Amino acid sequence: MTTTKKSGTTALAVLPAVHDVLGSAAGRACVEAHGHAVTTAAIRAGLEELREIILAGEPGPENRDAAAAVVAERAHASLDAAGMTRMKRVINLTGTVLHTNLGRALYSEAAVAAAIEAMRHPLALEFDLESGRRGQRDTVVQDLVAEITGAEAACIVNNNASAVLLVLAALARGRETVVSRGELIEIGGSFRMPDVMESAGTRLREVGTTNRTHLKDYSGAIGPETGLLMKVHTSNYKVMGFTHEVPVSELAGLARTHGLPLVDDLGSGVLVDLSDWGLAKERTVQQALAEGADLVTFSGDKLLGGPQAGFVAGRRDLVEACAKHPLKRALRLDKVRLAALEATLKLYRAPDRLAQTLPTLRFFARSRDELRALAEELRPALETALPGQEVEVVESEAQIGSGALPLETIPSIALRMPAPGSRAETLARAFRALPVPVIGRVANDALLLDLRCLERTEDITGQLSHIDRIQG
Ligand SMILES: *Cc1c(COP(=O)(O)O)cnc(C)c1O
Repeated sequence: MTTTKKSGTTALAVLPAVHDVLGSAAGRACVEAHGHAVTTAAIRAGLEELREIILAGEPGPENRDAAAAVVAERAHASLDAAGMTRMKRVINLTGTVLHTNLGRALYSEAAVAAAIEAMRHPLALEFDLESGRRGQRDTVVQDLVAEITGAEAACIVNNNASAVLLVLAALARGRETVVSRGELIEIGGSFRMPDVMESAGTRLREVGTTNRTHLKDYSGAIGPETGLLMKVHTSNYKVMGFTHEVPVSELAGLARTHGLPLVDDLGSGVLVDLSDWGLAKERTVQQALAEGADLVTFSGDKLLGGPQAGFVAGRRDLVEACAKHPLKRALRLDKVRLAALEATLKLYRAPDRLAQTLPTLRFFARSRDELRALAEELRPALETALPGQEVEVVESEAQIGSGALPLETIPSIALRMPAPGSRAETLARAFRALPVPVIGRVANDALLLDLRCLERTEDITGQLSHIDRIQG
């Protein structure tokens, strides 16, 4: 652009009117792409900026036509940038399968299809097709939960945090909830069990010590003020060494003697024996109910492998008290996720096929040999895209994530790119800047791309030509 430097108000003469900019070729292209209203606003802002530049004595455009083109092109670029998707799809090579910050479990194909159907068309959500009358929103999913877990009834809410909140508000408001000191968990930032209890209006009655809690601690705390007994799965940590906790089977007897509900917050909704997929045995919903929990609460998007959701399952009278509580309406699930849940839970009718049908279990089930083959396939492409960069195939340990089985790791394979000092972060940023961002993890002066959750190597190789060449 040629520029001239004139002084004061004469220089402002190059400023075009808004309608001139709108009428220029670049202005019309911008209106075509973004519409009249936002284009006009962006042009006004651009003209104002240009005016200040000129008044500051800085060089401006040569003439009105040049100024109109500059302002329109800038408006177009800024509207394009503002329109870019920010919640982008990414490729999770962090080595954490259920990564909360990356959206946890992926929907199965069946759940995707059901969700799309529910988005596009009206559906029998609260409608009984046989009688033509109003039905209950949770009936379909409740029936499936009952079929799979043996629970008498179930109520479905936004997530497990909601499930816990609802249970406490419906069953123990204004009274005490007895829980072991060793189980007062915090799950990521704002979910701290004592705070949830306070929000639900129940008084926390802590018993035992951090490492040891006995049956007599619970029984000593029970009195006329007690509303319920609660057991919380310590999902994201483990107290080890000189420890003791009271199993649900023992607490159940105590709860029954005093006519109190026993609630077991399981966190992850495990519905099958995970040792079939090489993971440690985690208590299932079925086991917790069989051991005598009156109610269990669990998530839909952790090990269950479905959409974000929270379940309250167990004794019918207690579930009904939760379902009737006003908070239930505030926490209820939308049609899209309910449809996806129905599809997800149906997959559990064929447990032997879950490793094919549920992405989460499919990721867990992959062997190191399978991942090593992917790594060897990818390595040359990375070496070509990043000349001079060392790329090695190493054994790594993947994590389950989302506070499920915190100490458990899964043998995995990673591509390791040594990059001392701040170069590792620079390299990580280059992968995050790809059209479909690739999220790895930086550890010990290297970038690691863990392959456990990589579906297709082409997802990486197909976009490596876009990577910024990093200079050593
Ligand atoms: C994860 C978890 C929660 C919270 O569940 P969300 O579905 O994330 O709301 C509550 N309790 C336990 C024990 C958990 O592991």
